Amino acid sequence: MALTWIRPDSLDAAEAWRDAAACRSVDPDLFFPVGTTGRALDHIAAAKAVCTTCRVQEPCLEFALQTNQDAGVWGGRSEEERRIIRRQRTRARRAAAVV
Ligand code: SF4
Repeated sequence: MALTWIRPDSLDAAEAWRDAAACRSVDPDLFFPVGTTGRALDHIAAAKAVCTTCRVQEPCLEFALQTNQDAGVWGGRSEEERRIIRRQRTRARRAAAVV
């Protein structure tokens, strides 16, 4: 018997932004370069250029942050840039909890 995975309706709605992604017709390798130097930097810059034209940049970035996407360019941000945002949010949450 084959197993079937059914997506919950709420997940479909939460990820509906994917249908409008500007990168749908772009080589995915551009968004997931290997390394962070040399040619990878060119790929990251090219991926970010696509993101600047994308009308779902915000939900894409939020999805990547919420689901801890470690690799690639999401929402116009590189891996390191998303790590910085996550650290900033963590610091802000801790500061709010102390007050
Ligand atoms: S913001 Fe960038 S990575 Fe996200 S869907 Fe748009 S083009 Fe793709």
